[in-house]
Amino acid sequence: MRMSEIFAPTLREVPAEAEIASHKLMLRAALMRKTMAGVYTYLPLGWRSIRKVEQIVREEMDRQGGQELFMPALQNPEPWQRTGRYDDYGSEMFKFKDRGGREVCLGPTHEENITTHVADEVRSYRQLPKLLYQIQTKFRDEIRPRYGVMRGREFIMKDLYSFDADQQGLDVSFERMYEAYCRAFTRMGLDFLVVEADSGAIGGKVSKEYMAIAGIGEADIVVCEKCGYGANVERAEITARPEASACECPPMSKVETPDVRTIEQLERFLSVPAGRMIKTLVYLADGEPVVALLRGDRELNELKLRNAVAAREVSLADEETILRVTGAPVGFAGPVGIKCPKVIADFEIPAIMCGVSGANEKDVHYKDLCYGRDFGPFELADLRNAVEGDLCPDCSNPLVAKKGIEVGHLFKLGAKYSVPLGCTYLDDKGESHPMVMGCYGIGITRCVAAVIEQHSDEKGIIWPMSVAPYQCTVVVVNTTDERQLEAGEALYAELMAAGVEALIDDRDERPGVKFNDADLIGIPIRVTVGPKGLDKGCVELKMRRDAQARLVPVEDAAEEIKAIVDAEMDRLEPCKR
Ligand SMILES: [Zn+2]
Repeated sequence: MRMSEIFAPTLREVPAEAEIASHKLMLRAALMRKTMAGVYTYLPLGWRSIRKVEQIVREEMDRQGGQELFMPALQNPEPWQRTGRYDDYGSEMFKFKDRGGREVCLGPTHEENITTHVADEVRSYRQLPKLLYQIQTKFRDEIRPRYGVMRGREFIMKDLYSFDADQQGLDVSFERMYEAYCRAFTRMGLDFLVVEADSGAIGGKVSKEYMAIAGIGEADIVVCEKCGYGANVERAEITARPEASACECPPMSKVETPDVRTIEQLERFLSVPAGRMIKTLVYLADGEPVVALLRGDRELNELKLRNAVAAREVSLADEETILRVTGAPVGFAGPVGIKCPKVIADFEIPAIMCGVSGANEKDVHYKDLCYGRDFGPFELADLRNAVEGDLCPDCSNPLVAKKGIEVGHLFKLGAKYSVPLGCTYLDDKGESHPMVMGCYGIGITRCVAAVIEQHSDEKGIIWPMSVAPYQCTVVVVNTTDERQLEAGEALYAELMAAGVEALIDDRDERPGVKFNDADLIGIPIRVTVGPKGLDKGCVELKMRRDAQARLVPVEDAAEEIKAIVDAEMDRLEPCKR
């Protein structure tokens, strides 16, 4: 492709709407343009990279026995109503009426669609397993689309659905996808981690997330650098129970705290660190009040609370319930004398010495509180999100906090969809059973953004060879010089003949403009054809990731570039690592 002809309107200025590197660069390097909030047109350079990511994913799905098909974006609401998700999805699902007044929706995912077909067509255990996938556009009406394609309203996803006869079959399918995902992300050049996405408390490890490590990730994760354990901070199990030492505090006493309600206000007012405060939260668990106690500097994890009280649903209590349970307005709740049949304290609460909490009285707090002496004992549980320094649940090594971009997700669904949608098979005795399902997603467009987050610098993108829109760019320094233009054109033709995906910058532009665009677009290999090199019978060869260029004889250049391309592709091939 010629830079004089390509539709690649690069931008010198950083667009105001973009906050993160990948979003800025996808706009500046002319990979895409916004059409409205969270919706993008992919331009030729961006589309080439997206297609390469798709192809890697496709090859890895096929390698594991996946069969590609293509489902409609436009969805029939009927199966969604049968699984109960038509309402559950709420306003995140695009819904509208067709000209006949019938409701239609746009698919945010395709469990209902695929399960309906398998229910209709697959009858016998002999036809199982089936691994069916598509690479397709998905729609989610995000409240706040941001970060470019990272959180868009329309995006491209690969979704695979596995149908097995039993749990063992599902385990095999899950394992295959685990392998496929590791291979696919490795081939894209992503530095990733696999984390547990469900807490151990709710029935085993049924879900895994693939996180691309990045400074701006939306997901907070903790990882163990010793044994490789990793989890979302919400999902990480905290098993350590800090030892409580004997209480040596003065007797507890009340302090007047007019209008001091938040942890931050209290920290300033009493000069006590948040870690010594007892945050007292009133929740409703399936409609019944529950009080949760945790350290002032910790975040309550609602899923863990839900598990601890075995409730289907928990939500923060309304002001009226808080007044009834604590006898005080919001902001002054505390564990001393609280009138609630169910109080649960986080594992860290007994270790707080000379603690501070609300006194269940307006404008009053207690100080010098000790667990066991002044309040409690209560039922203890793990109620909080993990933080850096918490101990690894597998090997007790301190965990490190990181940020990640979720690029893939594996989920064991079991019979969640096959039962309501009647997706059953007959076993060898003629008995009917629901199929056991799994679903497995990869955010294709999000992968491209994650690659850029991990492979870029202040000048632009530094594409890994496997997903670069082009592999090599030939920059002719001065196209009005016949000798340079001829040498550049000859090399370009040779590269194309050798099967190298090449660009040639044959524009009548200043060299600085060409070099800036080359760095911004980030093609892995740059060859400069200019007077200095040609005087020695050479061209200048530079990898985008390196600072230094080197001279290569003109007649060897194409062969050498081809060898670099092959070596780089091999480097990203998991089998050869
Ligand atoms: Zn560990």
